[in-house]
Amino acid sequence: MLVLPNGDHPMNSSACCREIVWERAFAEGNGHVFCNLCGGEVHIGDEWEVSHVGAPAALGGVDTGVAHKFCNREHGLAYVIPMVAKAKRMRRKHIGAAGPGFTDTPLPAGRQSNRIKKLNGKVEPRLPRYGKHARAMAALWPHGRPE
Ligand SMILES: [Zn+2]
Repeated sequence: MLVLPNGDHPMNSSACCREIVWERAFAEGNGHVFCNLCGGEVHIGDEWEVSHVGAPAALGGVDTGVAHKFCNREHGLAYVIPMVAKAKRMRRKHIGAAGPGFTDTPLPAGRQSNRIKKLNGKVEPRLPRYGKHARAMAALWPHGRPE
């Protein structure tokens, strides 16, 4: 992980940070800079970007390296964007922020509605679990539970 003296992590847009990342990759490659995605050499004059190694930046990754611009863009489109979208969907479902009925247009009488539509077409208020139990017990023993 590369951290600048002021505590920042190198960004792709800053020339001084790009220079630091390049120099580090140059030293690690013994005078050559290699793309961290395809493994090919990045020559002077090639278009290159600061690429996140391992975890993408959107998921908290801070380890960076040099990658060809084409490789980095292709990798982002093919792997990073779908992976980050999936991770966000999974997290929303895990914490209960998303799921059936939590859309912009929930179904009328759907799972999160306070109404229920029965198979016979009748629409009734949705009862909580204890309400259904009380109704069932009242139907079973209308004059109270026998001893
Ligand atoms: Zn490459």
